[in-house]
Amino acid sequence: MSKRLLLLIPTTTYRTEDFVEAARALEVDLVIASDRPNVMSGEFPDHLITLPFANPAAAVRTMREYAGSRPLDAVVPVDDVTTVVGAAIAEALGLRANPLPAVKATRNKLAMRELLVRADVASPPFQSVGLDEDSRAAARRMTYPCVLKPLVLSASRGVIRANDEAEFVAAFQRIGAILASPDVRELGEGTDGILVEGFVPGIEVALEGLLRDGGLETLAVFDKPDPLDGPFFEETIYVTPSRLPEATQAAVRDCAARAARALGLTDGPVHAELRLTPTAARPLPVMLEIAARSIGGLCSRTLRFGTGMSLEEIILRHALGWPIASLERERRAAGVMMIPIPRGGILEEVQGLDEARAVPLIEDVTISMHKGQEVVPLPEGSRYLGFIFSRAESPAEAESALRDAHRHLRFVIR
Ligand code: ADP
Repeated sequence: MSKRLLLLIPTTTYRTEDFVEAARALEVDLVIASDRPNVMSGEFPDHLITLPFANPAAAVRTMREYAGSRPLDAVVPVDDVTTVVGAAIAEALGLRANPLPAVKATRNKLAMRELLVRADVASPPFQSVGLDEDSRAAARRMTYPCVLKPLVLSASRGVIRANDEAEFVAAFQRIGAILASPDVRELGEGTDGILVEGFVPGIEVALEGLLRDGGLETLAVFDKPDPLDGPFFEETIYVTPSRLPEATQAAVRDCAARAARALGLTDGPVHAELRLTPTAARPLPVMLEIAARSIGGLCSRTLRFGTGMSLEEIILRHALGWPIASLERERRAAGVMMIPIPRGGILEEVQGLDEARAVPLIEDVTISMHKGQEVVPLPEGSRYLGFIFSRAESPAEAESALRDAHRHLRFVIR
């Protein structure tokens, strides 16, 4: 009998297709849970479920009942917003997953910082400020430059650098407004405070990993060749393999493994962001954050393992306890550009797509917003304009192909 796998898919995710495709290839009996009712759920009650992702206790009750007659073999949360409910369901049903408290800590930037610091994982100085506090008084006690961020959001939403007291007060108000928006308030816990960290200078890298029984396997280290110095932190290019010296990459891997241990994460994908602070001796990895999920957006499409396995297939196989032939990334370099948002407004037209796609070494250009949709730049926005993918013999070629392709694109935004 085929194994039954539950995928927790939030409506906001970009990853439905890639995870569903991986599940199909594995020939598992796929059950999809979403937080909004699917028009087809009446027809496929065993395969399409509606679960209140923000209420893990209620979701656990539903899944216990479901599993009473249809036992589940694995549960896989997709993206940040389903990691906690996923861990709660897995715990209740005795399935392989991270411990619930560890996952909860990854979803609150203050809780995460406290655990990292306690375990001596290099972190910037930090303090939290309540939304109801007087921002001018708070501004006076800060050291500059600093970075203000909501405790609960992701993809750099609401993350703002402040260089002085006036910028602090402005950033504080701006984040307050983001936290008051309905989609954020739905998240509940943690929307009443702002974390303030010392600004960590240096280049930034991302590490994609898989935890197996507490041990961290690094799947890829990505360089982020565009500077991320603020005031907002829009991610653009990711390129792997990293061009950093092996010793630096080893320090990055070590820092990520210690961060996972500090939080108590044991199983499944992790995505970590680190900065390399210049010091007299060597660059020191500082942990910005580690999440109990895989890389966001469509960026996982850069990764192929062994003879072509996707990251999603690796994640599903791990959750099922199935063998994984190889965690070795393909030899070629790969890159992705999360297309920068030039300005806010209504997207009217995208020009130059054919030319961008025709650039050598470009694998694909995907526009993920539709005409007529509102484009919102950071720090308020949370949707990507699109993605450009490249594959090449070297990281430098992969990067320059992305830049060439991007030069052909023109976004008409009214
Ligand atoms: P999110 O979960 O929303 O991505 P992060 O805490 O990872 O939030 O911050 C997003 C980005 O903001 C980081 O990738 C980094 O570029 C920048 N950033 C965040 N905190 C700091 C910091 N303390 N110093 C320097 N840059 C930071």
